[in-house]
Amino acid sequence: MNVFIDSNGVVKRNGVNTLKMISRTRLIYSFSPRNEPVETAKPGELVLFETIDALGGQIKSEDMTLNELDWSKVDGATGPLYVEGAEAGDTLVVDILDIRVEEIGVMVVIPKYGALGHMDFKPRVKLVRIKDRLVHFDGIKLCAHPMIGTIGVAPGEGEVPAGSLGRHGGNMDTKEVRAGTRLYFPVFAEGALLAMGDLHALQANGELCVSAVEVSGEVLVKVDIIKGKQPPWPILETDDHLAVLACGNTLDEACTYASETAVKGIAGARGLSFEEAYMLASLTVDLEINQVVDPKKGVRAVIPKELIGNVEHLFIG
Ligand code: CA
Repeated sequence: MNVFIDSNGVVKRNGVNTLKMISRTRLIYSFSPRNEPVETAKPGELVLFETIDALGGQIKSEDMTLNELDWSKVDGATGPLYVEGAEAGDTLVVDILDIRVEEIGVMVVIPKYGALGHMDFKPRVKLVRIKDRLVHFDGIKLCAHPMIGTIGVAPGEGEVPAGSLGRHGGNMDTKEVRAGTRLYFPVFAEGALLAMGDLHALQANGELCVSAVEVSGEVLVKVDIIKGKQPPWPILETDDHLAVLACGNTLDEACTYASETAVKGIAGARGLSFEEAYMLASLTVDLEINQVVDPKKGVRAVIPKELIGNVEHLFIG
């Protein structure tokens, strides 16, 4: 994929003028049905989202202290995009076609935060170079796997801070949200109001220290709609599996939600009783941790595709 902006500001993909672009200056700090759309797209259209890193692009030097950060500029997401025809009760389908990240990412550790927040440690800022698809962490080279930390639609009412997560998506920090995957979001508000940001050049399951390689960049997506039905949680599709992306106040709660959708989906897909589907899921469905450091904890139930076939078997309450 070759996406770039020419000297006239026209976005091109593989040399063809195709798509719409949303600048990284168009930021929201909460997902809400009241957010004004900054762009519209029809089903099937491509849209390029420019994104800012989760720290608002504020950290340019390792000498900067966290006290100097303007925390009101943290966790911004680009958007929202109004998808024509999307209504509450539908599903928004988002194909992640390409993710490009810039060459410098940033990591932080913040006292009291992360999986080890109870321990005594100092605040620290670290710049990390990303080059030739490698993350250079001091002398250690790691394969970059660009992913989207925050992506979601508006909730039905109220607002959810962009640093949090829920049934609408949000700050899911799920390492599998990469180029080549497809996401299904339940639509709660007219137009769906898709927004995204918080790219990571690399993150492991858990995101232990509360920071991945936070980086600015751009994401090319194609949007589509499935009318009149929706999953209870965002669903991620890869070539070989479907994953229910659930969250809860605890990991236990998140596991329960993810498992319930997976087992009901398998029962429906295979024509099995709950008991049989429950047993089959115990043999085939992997519960994996998305992250343990955000306001809600995230888990995914990973279901082999050959077991369930059509994703719509997961569109159950
Ligand atoms: Ca994040």
